[in-house]
Amino acid sequence: MNEASERPHHFIRHIIEEDLAQGKHSFIRTRFPPEPNGYLHIGHAKSICLNFGLAQDYQGECHLRFDDTNPEKEEQEYIESIKRDVQWLGFAWSGSVRYSSDYFKSLYGYAIELIQKGLAYVDELNAKQIREYRGTLTAPGKNSPFRDRTVEDNLELFKKMRAGGFAEGAACLRAKIDMASPFMVMRDPILYRIKFSEHHQLGNQWCIYPMYDFTHCIADALEGITHSLCTLEFQDNRRLYDWVLENISIDFHPKQYEFSRLNIEYTLMSKRKLHLLIKEKKVTGWDDPRMPTLSGLRRRGYTPTSIRKFCHRIGVTKQDNQVEMSALEACIREDLNKNAPRALAVLDPVQLIIDNHSNAKEWLTVPNNLNNPGMGHRQMPFNRVLYIDRADFREEANKKYKRLMLGKEVRLRHAYVVKAKYVEKNAQGMITAIHCEYDPETLNKNPSDGRKIRGVIHWVSADDAVPAQMRLYHHLLTAPHADTSLFLEVFNSESLCIRQGFVEPSLANTQEGKTYQFEREGYFCTDKDSSEKHLVFNRTVSLRGENTLYDF
Ligand code: ATP
Ligand code: MG
Repeated sequence: MNEASERPHHFIRHIIEEDLAQGKHSFIRTRFPPEPNGYLHIGHAKSICLNFGLAQDYQGECHLRFDDTNPEKEEQEYIESIKRDVQWLGFAWSGSVRYSSDYFKSLYGYAIELIQKGLAYVDELNAKQIREYRGTLTAPGKNSPFRDRTVEDNLELFKKMRAGGFAEGAACLRAKIDMASPFMVMRDPILYRIKFSEHHQLGNQWCIYPMYDFTHCIADALEGITHSLCTLEFQDNRRLYDWVLENISIDFHPKQYEFSRLNIEYTLMSKRKLHLLIKEKKVTGWDDPRMPTLSGLRRRGYTPTSIRKFCHRIGVTKQDNQVEMSALEACIREDLNKNAPRALAVLDPVQLIIDNHSNAKEWLTVPNNLNNPGMGHRQMPFNRVLYIDRADFREEANKKYKRLMLGKEVRLRHAYVVKAKYVEKNAQGMITAIHCEYDPETLNKNPSDGRKIRGVIHWVSADDAVPAQMRLYHHLLTAPHADTSLFLEVFNSESLCIRQGFVEPSLANTQEGKTYQFEREGYFCTDKDSSEKHLVFNRTVSLRGENTLYDF
């Protein structure tokens, strides 16, 4: 992967290089630990590029580990989608896929050890009481009346929990740390809770499930993770991470480091909220091209290269910030500008009739990508009746207007110069056809008399063009910062606009996922809803920054 050679230097690289130089580690191992409760989004791509990228750059290993401690919200479908997305981004995990649930037996053993050491107890307060006893940021909590049970009682009660002897919520296992700690996570955190739900990996083997904070550090240690990288909201949890590992018999103690989450303006970076958009039918699914999910971006036409490039560019820091959508768009434009073949497509068609053309079809040879001559040429039919875009013609305009207007000339891309003569209109005054004359001497060359042609517009041959639905996307939200509970209210109801247009005939056999630059219109990608009879294209991104239909 060539972008790895750019190696942006950030604080985590610094730490790793020091650890390697000082011999603290001879080898690094990272992990990407998604919870399988939704599809991955571009925020996860930042974490994937960081963890897998570091392993690549320092010849280490990166594990994929599903953090599957909550059987209620997790599903096999999510596991499959996450594996697919990680591989699509271009990464390979080391060894087999791992699950936190692989360690449930060991975790249970460590819980027993904590109980035996007097460091954990079975609490029978209910959830509401536990909350009340916990105190607040400014007031200390108070001890549960069950806190000082004997080791024997705790062992027996914990075994009873495991055997299904308590109802859900009737008991839990808590660490005995400090109810007055300034860190809320240290106020006797819950280690195990009861859930009578079927687990996607283990079925009904367990009715007690370990909590994230207890599980994650132990799973990291058992796997020999050297650098456990997570986002800033886990900063306080680091104390609990270290407390657990210091108090159980385990040899290896990984270090946790935090970095800031990726946030992007006008969209959402939370599986839960994205899931709600689906449930509320605001979007069609996890892979709706408006979604910031990796499956949505892929369907929209984003490439793995563009997303990796974006993750390199935004870097890794401890500062919370919001990245502009244009930063992501710039990355896909750079990639597609080099690699996407060009094609001509008209999104809002109006007929252009060349009155002095014989109506004998000509085949023009057209380059597939002027920036990349290796991409070759294709043939395009040219004929007497064409479609051009309605926005490329005006009856009258001032001098700044460089497209077609009555009495003036313009070049048809890859073809001839035409001069508009008159228009036909319907009863509503709408133009139904533009009549023009062409200069047969100007195929890809300037007029011999030296007159200057200022504009170039695109076109397709009406007889040969293939009808195509064009889906144009705008921001998912109407507000740049919407990470509040009100995000459904700022959903952009105009985030999808559909146009019925035409594409040149060479695209008739296009395939799902293929991207093109529709000249002067933007980058487009063939959608999975496309069939031979009904072509559908998603606009990946406009040609320049503007989020407008006609940006030139
Ligand atoms: P969500 O709120 O979307 O569910 P999460 O943090 O709960 O996100 P996990 O499945 O637990 O999602 O995340 C797996 C890894 O990806 C974690 O290490 C997490 O820190 C990281 N991650 C999640 N969201 C982002 C983000 N926006 N930017 C960077 N890393 C992220
Ligand atoms: Mg989560």
